[in-house]
Amino acid sequence: MELHTLYRLLFRHYGPQHWWPAESPYEMMVGAILTQNTAWANVKKAIANFGEKLTPAFVTEISDGELEEIIRPSGFFRQKAARLKTLTGWYARYRYDIETARAQGTDTLRMELLALKGVGRETADSILLYALQKPVFVIDAYTRRVFARLGFAVPSEYEVFRRFFEENLPRDPALYNEYHALIVRHAATVCRKRPDCADCPFAPSCPGARNDD
Ligand code: SF4
Repeated sequence: MELHTLYRLLFRHYGPQHWWPAESPYEMMVGAILTQNTAWANVKKAIANFGEKLTPAFVTEISDGELEEIIRPSGFFRQKAARLKTLTGWYARYRYDIETARAQGTDTLRMELLALKGVGRETADSILLYALQKPVFVIDAYTRRVFARLGFAVPSEYEVFRRFFEENLPRDPALYNEYHALIVRHAATVCRKRPDCADCPFAPSCPGARNDD
């Protein structure tokens, strides 16, 4: 099945996902760090703990200990607090102005983000796509699982799989935004570890479909 056909089926089945759920591009960046190795429900609690104060200036000014306390619900809070400080330090290069950051080329921004401690490919690409609206397709474990079951030859290398999407879809950040969100929705609710194939729009043609009858 073609990537665009899959997208249309997912969209028809689940509707728009309205990602990324955040009030500002900076909050998206913070969410991209906090969501590492934890469920989104814990990220929401950590973000709620900031109240009205989730700004780069606030994160820069408070102590490591204060930041750790605020984000404690997201788990790995010491490590994540250090990562947030580092990421915010990177954002300071652009005077905390998303348009100034956006004016840079995608490759430059990607290299800068990947050079930060604790920012891997998935986190960097989530920031590029959702906060900076760059046409970068985010790959995660859900993407691998769903596409492997659907019969795609999923490459082990992140970059190869990312390029596969980008070369077979229009370079459109809005499309990549919605597509990734739909994959996450599908993998989290239907194509789970143990898939619910009876509820799946792909079941008739999916080579990985389970028949539990
Ligand atoms: S039919 Fe089953 S295995 Fe295939 S995509 Fe749907 S839920 Fe996943």
